[in-house]
Amino acid sequence: MSKHQFQTEVNQLLDLMIHSLYSNKEIFLRELISNSSDALDKLQYLTMTDENYKSLKYTPKIDISFDKEKKILTIEDSGIGMNEGDLIENIGTIAKSGTKSFVQSLSGDAKKDSQLIGQFGVGFYSAFMVANKIEVISKKAGEDKAYLWSSDGSGGYDLEEVSKESHGTHITLHLKDDELEFASSWRIENIIKKYSDHIPFPIFLSYTEENEGKKEDKCEQANRASALWRLSKADIKDDEYKDFYKTISHDSDEPLTWIHTKVEGTQEYSTLFYIPKKAPFDLYRVDFQPGVKLYVKRVFITDDDKELIPTYLRFVKGIIDSEDLPLNVSREILQQNRILANIKSGSVKKILGEIDRMAKNESEKFENFYKEFGRCIKEGLYTDFANRDQLLELVRFKSTKSDKLVSLSEYKDRMQADQKAIFYILGEDEAILRNSPLIEKFKKKDIEVLILDDEVDSVVIPMVGTYKEIPLHSVNSTEVDKDFEEDKIEKGDEKKYEEILSIIKEELKDEIKDVKISKRLEESPSCIVLDENDPSLSIQKMMQQMGQSVGEMDIKPILEINPEHTIFTKLLLKNDPTTTKEVAHLLLDNARLLEGLKIKDVIGFTKRVNEIVSRAI
Ligand code: ADP
Repeated sequence: MSKHQFQTEVNQLLDLMIHSLYSNKEIFLRELISNSSDALDKLQYLTMTDENYKSLKYTPKIDISFDKEKKILTIEDSGIGMNEGDLIENIGTIAKSGTKSFVQSLSGDAKKDSQLIGQFGVGFYSAFMVANKIEVISKKAGEDKAYLWSSDGSGGYDLEEVSKESHGTHITLHLKDDELEFASSWRIENIIKKYSDHIPFPIFLSYTEENEGKKEDKCEQANRASALWRLSKADIKDDEYKDFYKTISHDSDEPLTWIHTKVEGTQEYSTLFYIPKKAPFDLYRVDFQPGVKLYVKRVFITDDDKELIPTYLRFVKGIIDSEDLPLNVSREILQQNRILANIKSGSVKKILGEIDRMAKNESEKFENFYKEFGRCIKEGLYTDFANRDQLLELVRFKSTKSDKLVSLSEYKDRMQADQKAIFYILGEDEAILRNSPLIEKFKKKDIEVLILDDEVDSVVIPMVGTYKEIPLHSVNSTEVDKDFEEDKIEKGDEKKYEEILSIIKEELKDEIKDVKISKRLEESPSCIVLDENDPSLSIQKMMQQMGQSVGEMDIKPILEINPEHTIFTKLLLKNDPTTTKEVAHLLLDNARLLEGLKIKDVIGFTKRVNEIVSRAI
């Protein structure tokens, strides 16, 4: 026998479990059955595809039994099983880095942690909520040796070689005295019905019942083993959909919505997809696990194929079950398979269709969805060109004309008759954007401007180009100038400003690309904009963060000056190069501040302000 220590994070998790912060203890059985079902899935796949397993005697099933007097509950499966290495790796450590960092993020604050853990698959360890000792005997299919793993959940576990006749895993829970409710046929049947009715394998419950002093052995199938996704919609109750979701997702919350589809004709397949209510904590991690499982004729094939559904829809959980794929399809071949490509594009259409339906008919639900997964939809705009038009209908933005998020279609409906483009302003801070000098003209003309303050906006939106043939133009750049041709400054005027502009340009030549008379300012004296083809400020910042030098590209802004502002009209009148140079810096610094940028030369700035104020007083 050998003794082993739990990994630190396992201890942390167990500590949380044992002190039963989790109010919903019954889920431990769902988790163990789900593990068994996965183990049966894996072996079934091997018996279909791998010569070495074809001769194996394989009867997929799960057996549950209990003995109230002995305070024991057992769960046994005829699945793939675990060898010594698997046991060490799978139960005793947390291998998945996402899960690990989740546990590391637990605060130690009981209340907070128990809320967090509700939206997270607690797996095998949850059994320690009801058991003070657990024994796992497992034999891996195709191997000779079996092992006993045992632990009381405090600090470590023992491992020893034992004998076991058939492959699979047998788990014995020694129930805590106050958890004997789980040694009851009524209670267990209920939990199985609730969570595991539709896993595709039979679950048998056996126990001894005492009736008027007579002992009677009972054994019955406790679930329908019907593979819920294969039933017809009319035969499935909402609660069944919801409970099945909990089984496959480990989410303790109900799903936001689901999409159940049966396709018949040249291709035959069923899909059942769920959209969760809340985004999982690791949605934006690179190692995020996909949530869609592929079955062929009810036989599990894989749950680890990132190609089953596009990355931007990675929050979707569910099942694809094909009638047409060959059962022995290898995971490698799947990548280029045409049948699967068809299923995939059909599935995306269905999912987007459901989101669209929510947007149109269930605004509250849609708002909830968008709050959690809106960024993913924007990601889709960037990656899924085939569904671009539909995705454009789903994105929402803040706006100068509404407190709520608006769609492009709403914007379009509100456009002015002669308005040539959809306008947006990019930046990081909503308050700064709403008050930016860049949108003064738009306010005056009562033209709506979309406020794009989400980091991904600066990457995604500029490349969208058009919505229903209307161009999208950034207010931050000179791109919008052509939308206001009619506001052109008189030719004669331009001459008038030439001299003063060239003094300003010369004085600020290290910091700006050009200086221009502005057509967009109403109240502010100056603003900075980017040249039409230059990357936005946030993109520049991102490139810098990624270690790319933007310095080399030398992207300087263009300074625009409001010709009607007193500062400028007085400068013109005074016609004194020294003052003009002094004020030039202030005009630029002012504009930078209003964009939420830092002033480069703070000391110079305060000195100039102080001097000018002193003179004015
Ligand atoms: P999860 O199921 O989320 O991966 P668990 O802690 O429940 O997390 O299980 C860890 C791993 O242990 C599983 O991924 C699986 O590899 C293995 N395992 C658990 N139960 C069984 C079982 N009954 N048969 C075979 N392997 C199992």
